[in-house]
Amino acid sequence: KQQTNLIYQSIMDKNFQEEQFTGITKFTPPLCKQRYQFIKDLVEKYKPKKVADLGCADCTLLWMLKFCSCIEVLAGLDICASVMKEKMHRLSPLPVDYLQPPERSLTVILLHGSVAHKDPCMLGFDLVTCIELIEHLEESELKKFPEVVFGFMAPSLVVISTPNSEFNPLLPGVTLFRHPDHKFEWNQVQFQSWSLEIARQYGYSVEFTGVGHPPTGMENVGFCTQIGVFVKKYPQTSESAQSETPTEGVYKTVTYDNDKHFVFFYVVKVFRAVYPSLKDEKYLQNAVVSEVIFTAQIIKRRLLDRLMSEHEEYNDDTTERKSKFQLLMNCFSEDLGKLVVEKSMEPFVKGKVVYIPLRTIFSFPKVNQLCSTFEKLCKLIATKVTLSSDGSAVMFNIEHENKEN
Ligand code: SAM
Repeated sequence: KQQTNLIYQSIMDKNFQEEQFTGITKFTPPLCKQRYQFIKDLVEKYKPKKVADLGCADCTLLWMLKFCSCIEVLAGLDICASVMKEKMHRLSPLPVDYLQPPERSLTVILLHGSVAHKDPCMLGFDLVTCIELIEHLEESELKKFPEVVFGFMAPSLVVISTPNSEFNPLLPGVTLFRHPDHKFEWNQVQFQSWSLEIARQYGYSVEFTGVGHPPTGMENVGFCTQIGVFVKKYPQTSESAQSETPTEGVYKTVTYDNDKHFVFFYVVKVFRAVYPSLKDEKYLQNAVVSEVIFTAQIIKRRLLDRLMSEHEEYNDDTTERKSKFQLLMNCFSEDLGKLVVEKSMEPFVKGKVVYIPLRTIFSFPKVNQLCSTFEKLCKLIATKVTLSSDGSAVMFNIEHENKEN
């Protein structure tokens, strides 16, 4: 417990020390950015693979999290579809993502629905974030929220942030609540007792922290945004967790409300983006073929340069200046026995064709890393690269080699 406290303390020291208090409360960086940074730091620490942001609004946090390389599934849920759609284009892959696909896979989905309802597509997440959400919930929704998030979704980590009403007198212009849509704002005791009761009921531990420091001498006011970090005491076994991977296609759910009335509701998928990844054979094949051709070109260039310099030394008639191309062509028409190096791993020239053994290409770290086995390399490039008849070497015809080279 003490250790976890220290972790949060160090996160805060690193990121939130720029706060300025000058009579008018002003946070630098802005409080919303501090909240997002808090989540990003937590993601870097715990490395969750599947993250759901409930009440994701314009998807800014999701957009920031897509750059965290540990995350493979990112989901956002909000009751307001139009606000989610406003900037959801930011969640689509960029051309550069296709140019050099990373190893990790990433799927981003946006769901239109309520945190007050259980839906199978909300299952299977490791981290659930609820940033400035709960104060927007109606009483009936707030009542259902713990069962949905902690009972049904049951991730190993939940982060809930909400305004700390004790800080409000320090905020200019705030009379009752900070925002007209807030249904309530809690002081520290209210938020902590609500959180502790949930933690007790659903088997979590909870630590309290926040962002937006109070001014010096007013520390008892607490953070401007109070945050509860809930950690599941008995995490699921990987087997049972896997069976609850977010499902696709089940977006219409039937349930019963408390009075056993038949209720239909929908969680509608409004966006889905699958990022290119080397886990997808199609992108892996493209990457391997490009890398093989690039590597083979380098080897070929080195070989031809060496052969030409050997030829220049051999034929020391320096008065007769021929173009490099002519020299090269002469090399091949001369005694091939002198020029051809036929060892299994070494590239060689036969006639007007350069052969680069695949074994040599496979020994280059990047190719090796991409393919992991020689057999996989052979399989991936089989129909994409011109190979020798026995399939053991990449072939380049240098007859039409650029004369300036
Ligand atoms: N989490 C975002 C952030 O920190 O920037 C936005 C928080 S915004 C203040 C609250 C969001 O909660 C709104 O986008 C609102 O539509 C959404 N919301 C309100 N009630 C909800 C519900 N029952 N289920 C899901 N989202 C809800």
